[in-house]
Amino acid sequence: MPEFLPYGRQSVTDEDVAAVTEVLRGDWLTTGPAVARFEADLALHTGGVPAVAVTSGTAALHVAYAAAALVPGDEVVASPMTFVATAATAALHGAKVVFADVEPDTGNLAVEAAAAAVTERTKVVAAVDYAGHPAELDALADVAHHAGALLLEDAAHSVGGSWQGRAVGSLADLTTFSFFPTKNLTTAEGGAVVTASPELLQRAQAFRNHGLVRDKALQRYPDEGGWHQEVHEFGLNYRLPDVLCALGSSQLTRLAEFKKRRAEIHARYNAALADVSGVLTPPSRPGADPVWHLYPLRVLDGRRRALFDHLRGLGIGVQVNYIPAYWHPVFEDLGYRRGLCPNAEAYYEQELSLPLFPSLTDADVDRVVDGVRSFFGI
Ligand SMILES: *Cc1c(COP(=O)(O)O)cnc(C)c1O
Repeated sequence: MPEFLPYGRQSVTDEDVAAVTEVLRGDWLTTGPAVARFEADLALHTGGVPAVAVTSGTAALHVAYAAAALVPGDEVVASPMTFVATAATAALHGAKVVFADVEPDTGNLAVEAAAAAVTERTKVVAAVDYAGHPAELDALADVAHHAGALLLEDAAHSVGGSWQGRAVGSLADLTTFSFFPTKNLTTAEGGAVVTASPELLQRAQAFRNHGLVRDKALQRYPDEGGWHQEVHEFGLNYRLPDVLCALGSSQLTRLAEFKKRRAEIHARYNAALADVSGVLTPPSRPGADPVWHLYPLRVLDGRRRALFDHLRGLGIGVQVNYIPAYWHPVFEDLGYRRGLCPNAEAYYEQELSLPLFPSLTDADVDRVVDGVRSFFGI
């Protein structure tokens, strides 16, 4: 039996290890100079838009909604074709999540569906750059702003990408990243919130650190003493430690390389599977410069599960991304029903993510391709 091939995997070099051990031997483990350095390094990939490093992509979403001042009674229009965290973190702020359907080709939030879903209670429209292909961010920003809402871009898959020549991070009011090991770069666990708005940035920084106010000019009791700090709004501890920020800065030096290799693998799959009539390969829209985090193959004729089992049987770690978020029992118990977003459900029924990560070799890709072709008897 050949070695098991995972669907995603980190690339960690000796340089990464050295960057981490250097911090471990220093004075700071948690919030030291590596945090500000990582945030500045990240901003080199967001068109210069500032970043707030946090402990996960989920924390980034929770912080972004806090920055948007999401409260009970507010609505968030969200794509269902995502990891549950995009919606769960809004629900945890007490907001009502209104799922809007996706585009049939990319699986990204459909502009018309989002426009139909916004109301005067909508505070955030949450798009997802599914598989690393940017959503229709200009049109979605118009939809959100027209409704008096903010556009949040869950860019867990697309750090390093761009849309219409503008970097991911500079397109939405709030952008969130994840640095989980399978994503485009890793800090083990980690994430970031990116925003060009000084007010949203300040609110994100505050929520990350318990809402602590240390600036005397802003304090209610500034004469309490040199030790004094106070909380005006509740926050949490979502601080990404120095040790992990050092890993992030080191990884960022190879983001372009990761992106290039991911694109090569994507192109190799596309070419090798183009003539297989039982599948559809993932398209790109004009203006999109994706970072292919996933390779979402579409398996036709109800054969997705059989192909999943076939490839797993060959030791190939295929995955399915994602079950529509409102299918999770937690949403079902709130009254969300199957049938809500037909395009998302049709996409889910066909989707199969093939292995895709920078250290995947051409021979590995060919092994996956052979596995798919053998399933179809070709
Ligand atoms: C991975 C992911 C998240 C959550 O990120 P974590 O770092 O795992 O918490 C959120 N949204 C999407 C689309 C993701 O893929």
